[in-house]
Amino acid sequence: MNHCQSNTISGKECDAPVMNGEDYCYRHNPRISKQDKVDASKQGGKRFKVLQNAPEASIKSIQSILILLEQNINDVRKGRVDPRVSNAVVQNVNAALKVYELAVIESRINILESKAGIDNQPRPISMDYN
Ligand SMILES: [Zn+2]
Repeated sequence: MNHCQSNTISGKECDAPVMNGEDYCYRHNPRISKQDKVDASKQGGKRFKVLQNAPEASIKSIQSILILLEQNINDVRKGRVDPRVSNAVVQNVNAALKVYELAVIESRINILESKAGIDNQPRPISMDYN
């Protein structure tokens, strides 16, 4: 990747990558107005879109997780939340599903151990699921 043809304020070569089809990075590109650069800088510092007034999400059942994912998909598609926020929701749901999987496996093992007459000890993991 080519680096910018401009120099920094201190006189060194700018080592930022060039914009697509350009000889300069965004900051040094003379074809971008100073105002646009200022606006872009301000925009970058703004907080991204979140649903501050949304009700608390529930992840206590598969049904509620499906509802949350459906809302999340629609919110990001309609531009109501930033995709980064949506990705965070998906990461949290994935973590919850891992716990859910463990709880299901644990429950099934307990049933099998009980049927086999194995003295099963109480397990530290317990989660309501339906
Ligand atoms: Zn540059």
